[in-house]
Amino acid sequence: MIEFSVDTPAREILVDVTSQVQEAVANMDVGSGVAQVFVLHTTAGITINEGADPSVARDVVTKLADLIPHHGDYRHGEGNSDAHIKTILTGNMVAVPVDEGRLVLGTWQAVFLAEFDGPRRRRVLVEVTPSLG
Ligand code: ZN
Repeated sequence: MIEFSVDTPAREILVDVTSQVQEAVANMDVGSGVAQVFVLHTTAGITINEGADPSVARDVVTKLADLIPHHGDYRHGEGNSDAHIKTILTGNMVAVPVDEGRLVLGTWQAVFLAEFDGPRRRRVLVEVTPSLG
């Protein structure tokens, strides 16, 4: 298992971490299988979506902010309930196929750390379960 960290630059932003995940997988040298990418937080998630056009990541963040405003009828004392709710929508883990040490992603796909309460340092774990056949 390999851990890497990401310093996010804004309160709410999708950060493309595909290259860090690829580097972690390559360093594990386990051939083919499935990579599990897990974020160790409750106000940041991990998701796969379009990485080619940065407008997509911007649109996702903007729409989630519309749907789940920062301030509202929340009781959680930290003032970041919106971030907890948004993280539920993105999830905290993705699985990516690995073929001979390379992530298998669609042409437009990228792995994003979804920051909803930054900027701060976030921890991401990568583990590869080797293929049996
Ligand atoms: Zn909180």
